[in-house]
Amino acid sequence: MTTQPQTLPLAERASGLVGSVIDSSTSLLASQTHDIVRFAMGSPAAEAVPTQILSEIGAQALGPDAADAFDYAATEGDPALREALLSMLEGTSDATTSDRLTITSGGMQGLDLACKLFVDPGDLVVVESPTYTNGSATALSYQAELLEVPVDHAGLDVDSLESQVEAAGRTPKAIYTVPTFQNPSGASMSLERRHRLLDLARRWGSVVIDDDPYGMLRFAGEPLPTLRELGGGDPLVFSVRTFSKIVAPGLRVGWVDAAPELGQLLINAKQAMDTCTNLPAQRLVAGFLAGGHLEEHLVTQRAEYLRRKVAMQESLTEHFGDIARWTDPEGGFFLWVSFEQPVLTEALFPVALAEGVAYIPGNAFSPSQAFPHDLRLCFASTPPDRIREGVARLRRAVDQLAAQ
Ligand code: PMP
Repeated sequence: MTTQPQTLPLAERASGLVGSVIDSSTSLLASQTHDIVRFAMGSPAAEAVPTQILSEIGAQALGPDAADAFDYAATEGDPALREALLSMLEGTSDATTSDRLTITSGGMQGLDLACKLFVDPGDLVVVESPTYTNGSATALSYQAELLEVPVDHAGLDVDSLESQVEAAGRTPKAIYTVPTFQNPSGASMSLERRHRLLDLARRWGSVVIDDDPYGMLRFAGEPLPTLRELGGGDPLVFSVRTFSKIVAPGLRVGWVDAAPELGQLLINAKQAMDTCTNLPAQRLVAGFLAGGHLEEHLVTQRAEYLRRKVAMQESLTEHFGDIARWTDPEGGFFLWVSFEQPVLTEALFPVALAEGVAYIPGNAFSPSQAFPHDLRLCFASTPPDRIREGVARLRRAVDQLAAQ
């Protein structure tokens, strides 16, 4: 977090730039020199990033004859990638048409575009509690007022949403949700709640910002239709997607699927922002998709992430069975741990770091700091043996904190 420079003529909206505890952990951990088991960032397993295939694609697509790959390109996205993306989505629940697709710089730019197009200062924006606070921070950067609605094992609590909106006496302009393998809880919104959420959004005329980066990483249970699919092309559903979790986050390539009537506005917004998404990165992703690598890659990843989740749950049972409970996601990257006796997870963090394990404290997922005794663990980035070591370290840190 930064303090605002007092002497500069900053725009009022600069006070809404709240930063990201989640992202700041990347720099914090980069500066540590001792051995740390890293459960903090939501990164894919380093071994799962297909570096060999990507570098082979790069050698061709970005080689000496590929000067055009380093030029400016179409704002809506490189045609090679849009074509490959359309084929990838064909036959999935997110099948779509090219006039709905805009390539973005990761999922974050999709969230920014959604808020840029729909959120005025003072507008009410619903966020989940806990939520992915980089999403709520985007709404705050457009001076939204947030309404935090609880999430339970079946996702966003739509009964509570309805009653909180009634109590607020005004309808939300937007509803921001991560419906599948939510970040941070790992929960997925039930089918019934998905339908009810869309009904409420239609009744209120609210845009649903459907942020679903983990949906393709299901390793257990039955697939659920996405909000995009259930919306059947409803212009109120604005879907944000990314290759960060399924290929590699450093590429910064994602896409939005939005009503065709927004197409030109999205282009205009991007033209006032970054003109075009990074073209070499788009070519790498296009080559990966066109080469038919994604499906096999996902099969391997899903199996490995299941192994890692099970290892983490077994270690939690061994070391935390007496003092905490945790979620049981059917996909994605995260477990959410809630202490039954108060353990202040922000105070625990430096102790855990010294002990050699990192996580994100629960309050980092709550604009109103509602989760002081919870924490998020990413199981995806760490192999099972190291997971077991990290969870044992975490328990030692809890005991040390209690003894202080
Ligand atoms: N939404 C959610 C729920 C996420 O977990 C993330 C990444 N942590 C993003 C959006 C941002 O994705 P990207 O890195 O592609 O910007």
